Amino acid sequence: MGRNANDWRAGVRTIRGVMGVCHLLVEPDGRGAVLLDTGLIGEPRQIRRELRKLGLGLRDVRAILLTHGHLDHAGNLAWAKAETGAPIFAHAAEQAHIDGTFPYRGINRWCGRLERAGRALLGVGAPAKIDVTIADGNELPFWGGLRVVHLPGHTLGHCGFYSVRHDVLFSGDLFDSYFFLAGTAAPILNSAPELLPASLEKARRLGARFMVPQHYDVLDGALHRQRFDAMLLRKARRRADRARPAV
Ligand SMILES: [Zn+2]
Ligand SMILES: [Zn+2]
Repeated sequence: MGRNANDWRAGVRTIRGVMGVCHLLVEPDGRGAVLLDTGLIGEPRQIRRELRKLGLGLRDVRAILLTHGHLDHAGNLAWAKAETGAPIFAHAAEQAHIDGTFPYRGINRWCGRLERAGRALLGVGAPAKIDVTIADGNELPFWGGLRVVHLPGHTLGHCGFYSVRHDVLFSGDLFDSYFFLAGTAAPILNSAPELLPASLEKARRLGARFMVPQHYDVLDGALHRQRFDAMLLRKARRRADRARPAV
């Protein structure tokens, strides 16, 4: 085809917030975009600015895709829905996170405490209803086709979005990818940690050439994929060490 494999990056605009990154995926026809997560504070201004640079406005956003309902991803959900008029696509299990009613348990209660504090201090996280519930394998008609990949563990309804066309997996909070610090989220942030190993394996088997999480340093899908593989190796080595009988 002669196309540069990194062409997909031209269709991705990063919105870098205080905690993570949300993305504007520019439709191939350039006449619209989809918003992948909505961020916490500062993102609305950046989203407007990026859209303006593309010659677009908030009403050109065709859909709001949510990887999961944690406050740093869904904080501006109500704003985004009101301003764009676009439907929210998310897994049904994320509604409780969006509403701030998820029954966090054990050390995961800290996640709930942090979110409550965030809501009170930052004035974000107004309620918003999921319009289209998504499930594993759903094919969404955005950005040349996006497949929903259910990757539970971080939350029960946590989903990634895979572009077959560009071989890139937007992996949400399955892992964070920073220089010298790639790993799964801190234990207090994972609601169903027992499901994480299977989701990591599922993402590995999917074998996307590029991965883009929602917390990272640079937009380099090949680098994030490398870090993901290195992280899996480290985890496997640690498991093997633990399994070895003490002498
Ligand atoms: Zn999260
Ligand atoms: Zn996050």
